Amino acid sequence: MISVPGGTGAVIDKIRAKLNIPPDELCDSQYDGLRLHHVAGKCGVFAETDINGLQKQGVPINELMASLYEAIVIQNLTVLTRGHTIRPHVLLLGGPNAFIAGLQQAWKHNIVKVWNEREFSLPEDINPEDLIYPPGNALYFAALGAIEFGIENEQQADNYQGIEDLEYYINEGRLQAQIGAQPGLFSSAAELTKFKQKYATTQFKKAVFSPGEKVQGFIGLDVGSTSTKAVLLSPDKKVLLKSYQLSKGNPIDDTKKVLGELLTQVEDQDATLDVLGLVTTGYAKDILRDVLKADSAIVETVAHTESALHYYKKVDVICDVGGQDIKIMLLRYGKVKEFKLNTQCSAGNGYFLQSTANDFGIPVEQYAESAFKAQNSPTFGYGCAVFLQSDIVSFQRQGWNRDEILAGLAKVLPKNIWLYVAQIPNFSKLGLNFILQGGTQYNLAAVKAQVDFIESRFKGKDEKPLIRVHKHCGESGAIGAALEARRLCEEGHQSTFIGLQSTAGIKYTSTTNESTRCLFCKNKCLRTFIDVHIEPNSTGYKNNGNGSASRRFIAGNSCEKGSVEHVKDMRGIKKKLDTALKSTPNLIEECNKELFKPLGVAYEGDPVPKRTYSAKTRIRAEAINNRAKLRIGIPRVLLMYSLAPLFQGYFESLGIKKGNIIYSDYTTENLYKTGCKRGSIDPCYPAKLSLPHIHNLIYKQNKKRKLDVIFSPMICDLKSDLKNTSGNWICPAIVASSESAKAAFTKEEDIFEREGIKFLNTFLNLNEPRLFEIQMFKEFSKILGLSKEENRRAVSAGFKALEGYKHRIKHRALEVLQQLEDEQKIGIVMLGRPYHNDPGINHDIFTEFQKLGYPILTQDTLPADEETLNKLFGEEVDAGIVSHPLDISDVWKNSLSTNVNMKLWAAKFVARHPNLIAIEISNFKCGHDAPTYNVIEDIIETSGTPYFSFKDVDENKPSGSIRLRIETIDYFLKRYKKEVVEKSGAHPANNNLADGLLVNA
Ligand code: SF4
Ligand code: SF4
Repeated sequence: MISVPGGTGAVIDKIRAKLNIPPDELCDSQYDGLRLHHVAGKCGVFAETDINGLQKQGVPINELMASLYEAIVIQNLTVLTRGHTIRPHVLLLGGPNAFIAGLQQAWKHNIVKVWNEREFSLPEDINPEDLIYPPGNALYFAALGAIEFGIENEQQADNYQGIEDLEYYINEGRLQAQIGAQPGLFSSAAELTKFKQKYATTQFKKAVFSPGEKVQGFIGLDVGSTSTKAVLLSPDKKVLLKSYQLSKGNPIDDTKKVLGELLTQVEDQDATLDVLGLVTTGYAKDILRDVLKADSAIVETVAHTESALHYYKKVDVICDVGGQDIKIMLLRYGKVKEFKLNTQCSAGNGYFLQSTANDFGIPVEQYAESAFKAQNSPTFGYGCAVFLQSDIVSFQRQGWNRDEILAGLAKVLPKNIWLYVAQIPNFSKLGLNFILQGGTQYNLAAVKAQVDFIESRFKGKDEKPLIRVHKHCGESGAIGAALEARRLCEEGHQSTFIGLQSTAGIKYTSTTNESTRCLFCKNKCLRTFIDVHIEPNSTGYKNNGNGSASRRFIAGNSCEKGSVEHVKDMRGIKKKLDTALKSTPNLIEECNKELFKPLGVAYEGDPVPKRTYSAKTRIRAEAINNRAKLRIGIPRVLLMYSLAPLFQGYFESLGIKKGNIIYSDYTTENLYKTGCKRGSIDPCYPAKLSLPHIHNLIYKQNKKRKLDVIFSPMICDLKSDLKNTSGNWICPAIVASSESAKAAFTKEEDIFEREGIKFLNTFLNLNEPRLFEIQMFKEFSKILGLSKEENRRAVSAGFKALEGYKHRIKHRALEVLQQLEDEQKIGIVMLGRPYHNDPGINHDIFTEFQKLGYPILTQDTLPADEETLNKLFGEEVDAGIVSHPLDISDVWKNSLSTNVNMKLWAAKFVARHPNLIAIEISNFKCGHDAPTYNVIEDIIETSGTPYFSFKDVDENKPSGSIRLRIETIDYFLKRYKKEVVEKSGAHPANNNLADGLLVNA
């Protein structure tokens, strides 16, 4: 029996509304035969973000809904079935299952697929899909179940007391229950009046022009996720005109609309407009820069910062709350020193306020007036919008009314901003001058809640914060872009913008189908071709000879190679990329190549016994002879990213052919999706990966050529060089992941036995070499016919291989550091666990930085030779602050976990090295990393070194938010690099780094 889980109906309905599908057409929406696109099924916010992006690429609405159904079904089959095979008959219950044809089809398709994959035996004379259906009364099954329960428990029937208590609760009890809830947004009418006088934004008055006047100005265009804004800025930096458009789905249409409106506002006054420059910002900034031949495209965070600094002299904190994103920029001496962006889990707060108001039947403009009426308000738990949605339903059940719920929701916004996104418990470090901007700040209820929250953080302190709302809060990004256009003009840049007339005449067609699919690699991304036609002789466009010019733009490509159509062009791009990548070291990639390569270790095993008189010797001789044929599969996951050479060396030295040690493929979205459905628990993403990798070994590698053994050890501790630590343990989720994967493949049927594969999840203690040796011997003595001595030699060959690997990567890191110092460049250290080397876990974030010219190191590659250690830690050792350069007891007392300890030491290393900055990466649900976030940040930032992070990473790749972070980090690093160059006294002209700066700064 399958019932759609809580919130699914609400998510479908929200997306339906967004796509403008009439409610009565939703039930007829289909799944069968439609093309599917990637939509995250993990939660409604993620799904909505993906659907937004796809819609803007022109994906048809029926395909969007089918993809949503697919995501919902796959998520349920992956997580809620807990790895069990659903057995017929399958009843589809709940409103969405009962009514939506497409959702029913998605269930049928996917459940039958699982049955086929698992060779589940089904009745022969019936179509398997007919075993999955919504029964009559599907909506009432819970109520019918209650009746059944009552019938079976007749003795309790007398407990029914009538409906008086319920009536009492509805009329009085619930009101009493609200007493003690938090107060509303205001305690008195006087307070409200005073607040409004201070914070209500003044109505914008558009500029008045004289008839015949030639108006000159710069345009800033901000194409946000939920709306598009444009401003016209005068040469003396005054906002002359604004225009706004709620996103209708395509950024070109939205842009035509807002730019057209600017022009109309001028021409309606019989004036003419001379655009001196145009700069774009927002999520679609790059494609619009190309389509409009704009002068530049700047990242949103930068645009917002420039805008705040333009209007306010003293700025310490900028808090921008848009529809989807929250951005916080922390400044010192007028320069951004740090920024915080929401992860997807806290996305959509602004849009959520708006859609909740709409759900209550009022426009967002009336939100504040409604919320201000509430005397009390319910207390929402802060965090993800999906939880807020379910809180709303509970509060309504408890009898809270609209005004109260809207007030409560406004009150939770600052908690989401400051505690969830920014994670700043201590405001005194930030400074006193706060600027609130972004469209959400037009909502005075949201502003009041934020002002109260920020002020409360300064309670009892001598100084009070000055909190101001940006005078053009909704257009602050567009103003930042216009300021950039003006700056470029001042520098002598001649605008390339195609002009407003040409923009108005843009016609385009958008095509997304098999013919637009990129076939340059196995990812086969489904792209969108946007063919833009404008008036002839427009720069950058090709005249068609029929009175128009045109150009094709490509969207939806996951990498640069997919930005062109022809192989020849792709090769040109690839060559450029390869050259750029080659000149910038990336130790993640270099380590991965080194880690999993065959080693060619010499044979250390015993000779085959010549005399085989006893059965024991005969069996042993057979096992030794068999070693050359034995094929061992190893999942390429978790600790294998630091230990693979140990096992490779061990097996090779015993005569296992190097080509017969097979690793599962690197993690990809496809590998994960294909193999994750048997999962019975839902831990963090890295721990979940063992299962799909073992699936890959069984169903792919084993099918290519038979595997005899899958070796997936449970390693509980590691040897570490760090000093004064309390332990060297491995995260239990990692240790247990092999066991839970084993359970998944043996629960209903022993798949290993069926395939003739021995599954070995050997428990190993690597911190105790002697014990490790015994453990390996016990596991492999029979399989390989081992003697204790040759096992010992193999263990030592394994450790030698591991040491060789470590030596090579650390030596390589030393070379890179030397190069950084010589050239005064900045390198990035990935502060992450060994498995963050897995491109499927790090989502290639660091390759993007490599493309931007930043050499990449990892915490495990940092050299620990005497000279380097002395250089960085010598003074502290001499001063007695630490007992040894590898001592972390000065920063971390709870040093039980090997990888956490290493991360902290690496943070200390980065903080002390002038050419390194840190980017921390950690996963959603990681209980080990969370307590160290602030510690690591403090270690690095106290030294003035930039620290950035990608937290809450999981199987979903939020490309938009990753891009925003990378571009923002790049922007700030360029400024930091400039400081490094200046401090070092190097002349910019002799420095690659500075060359880039002169162009980009
Ligand atoms: S766009 Fe890039 S990743 Fe996608 S198929 Fe083409 S080459 Fe592969
Ligand atoms: S360290 Fe954190 S993310 Fe990694 S496996 Fe353990 S709990 Fe999961």
